[in-house]
Amino acid sequence: MSPNTVTFSVELPEGTLDPAYLGESGKVSVLANAVSGSMDIVTPAEVAALERVRAGEAVDRELVAGLLERGYVCTDLAEEEARYRAIVDGYFQAIQEAPFQFMFIPSFVCNLACPYCFEGELTTRSPRMDEEMIEAAFDTIPEIQDRHQNSGPPYITLFGGEPLLDTPYQRGAVEQILRGSYDRGYPVTAITNGVALDAYVPMLLKYGCEEVQVSLDGTPRTHDTRRVFRNGRPTFELIERSIDVAADAGIRVLIRVLIDEDSVDDMPRFAEFAQAKGWLDHPKIRLFNGFTKATTFLYVTPDHPEEKRKRMVRGDVKAGLQEAFWRMVQQNPLVDRMLQPDLARIRSAVLEGDRLRPNLQGCSAGTSVVAFDPNGKIYGCPETVGRPQHACGTFYPEFSYAAGYRDPWRHRHVDTVPMCRDCNVKLFCGGGGCPIKAWAANGGDFNTCYCPKVSSITTRVETQLAYLLPMALRRQQEHANRPEGEEGTWEQMTRVGSFPWMS
Ligand code: SF4
Ligand code: SF4
Repeated sequence: MSPNTVTFSVELPEGTLDPAYLGESGKVSVLANAVSGSMDIVTPAEVAALERVRAGEAVDRELVAGLLERGYVCTDLAEEEARYRAIVDGYFQAIQEAPFQFMFIPSFVCNLACPYCFEGELTTRSPRMDEEMIEAAFDTIPEIQDRHQNSGPPYITLFGGEPLLDTPYQRGAVEQILRGSYDRGYPVTAITNGVALDAYVPMLLKYGCEEVQVSLDGTPRTHDTRRVFRNGRPTFELIERSIDVAADAGIRVLIRVLIDEDSVDDMPRFAEFAQAKGWLDHPKIRLFNGFTKATTFLYVTPDHPEEKRKRMVRGDVKAGLQEAFWRMVQQNPLVDRMLQPDLARIRSAVLEGDRLRPNLQGCSAGTSVVAFDPNGKIYGCPETVGRPQHACGTFYPEFSYAAGYRDPWRHRHVDTVPMCRDCNVKLFCGGGGCPIKAWAANGGDFNTCYCPKVSSITTRVETQLAYLLPMALRRQQEHANRPEGEEGTWEQMTRVGSFPWMS
C-alpha cells in the first residue's frame, strides 16, 4: 500500500453516476496519489480491496492489478520512498532554477482606501525610495540570488502602496526602476490598483513591460462601495478604462477578482459584464480569483503570550467563504469560464487528464520572492512589508541578510516540518500552511506548522471534486461516443492517462 494514497469521498448530484459507484454513504470514492500522479473514481469493491491491502490481508489479484498499475498499491515500499524522495529533491532543484521575483516598493502611499488593505496605516504616510536606494536594491540582487543558490532569471515587480501613482516623484522613481530593469535585461511587471495605469502605458511600453496585474471587486456597483479613493470617489470606470487602454496597447492584463462574503453573489453579474466588454475573449486579458482576508497574524511577534499569538493567527480564517464560492460558481458556468477556479490545484488533472501534481510548498514567498521597501529593508513575504519584525535584512544604507531567519523559511516544505511529514494529505496541502503564521503561532520556529487541519485540506479537495466531477463526467460522456476500444478499464485509464476513468 502506498503511504501517499488518499481516498476522498465526494457527494455528487443524483444521477451523475451509476449507483453502483456509490458507497453506503451515497458518496463516490476518488483515489488519488500525488507521487504516481493518478486520480480515479473507484467502486466500493475496490475501496474494500484497498482497505484489505492496507490491513495486510489477501486480495483478489484482478482487483489489485488495477490499483497496482495506477500506483495506489505498491509492492516495494523502499522503491515508493525513493520515488517520493525524487520528488522532494526535484523540488529543491526546481526552486534553485526558478525565476526569482524582486519587488520594488517606491513608497507605501496609496490613493485608495480599500477596507481590507493589509498594509493599512502604512499607506497614508511613507518614506520614499530615492535614486541611491533604488540603485542599491538592484546591486543586491546577484548577492541575494547567490545566498539562495538560485540561478534562475530575476524579474522585477513594481509594488506598493500604489506603484503607478500619477505624481512627479512616483513617475521618476518608476521610470528609474523600469530603466534599471531594462538595462539589466530583467523582465518587469507591476501590481497596481489601475486607476492611473493608462497614464503609465507609454512608459511601460518604452521599457518593455509586458504584463501588469490589476484588481477589481466585481460589478461597478459592488466595486465602488469598497475600492474607492480616500474621499470616497468611485474608481471602477477609471480602472476599466485603464484595462482597455493597456490591453489594446499590447500589455497583458491579469485581472484579480477579489471576492468575499459580501461580493460572492455579485460574480455572475460581473461575469456577464466582463463578457459583454469582450474581456473573456481578449487575447491580452485573463481574469482569476483572489479572496480578501483579515491579516491580524501580521502583527504577531514570537514574544507575545501564546494564547494571544494563536488567537491573532486564527483571526485570519473566514469560515464558509469557499463553500459559498463553489455554490455560486456551480450554478454559473460563465463565472467558471471567467475565473477557471482551482483552489485545490487539481483542475487540470480532473478536466484535462494531466498528471496530478504534488504540492510541496504552499507559498512561494519563502523560496523565490524578495521585496525591497522604502525603509531600506528586505522582506521575504510581500504581505509582511513594512512590519519590521518580519524583515530579513537591509539593502540600504548597508546590505545585511539574516540567514538565521531566512534559511529555515527557505528550506521549509512538507518534508521538513515533522508534523507534516507523516500526514496523509501533505501532498495536497503544501505542508504547514502559511510559513509566517506557523512562525508567529509557534514562537518563531519555521519548521513547525500552522495546520489548517487535515480535515479542512480534505474538504477543500472534496469540495472542488464535487464541483469538477460532473463537468468532467459530462465531457467524458461526449468523448465516450467517439473512441473505439474497451470502455472504462484500468488498462484504458493508463493508456489515455485521463481522469476520470472508472474501473
Ligand atoms: S499542515 Fe496539517 S494538513 Fe497540512 S500537511 Fe501539515 S499536518 Fe497535514
Ligand atoms: S508567507 Fe504567508 S502571508 Fe506571506 S505570502 Fe506566504 S502565505 Fe501569504
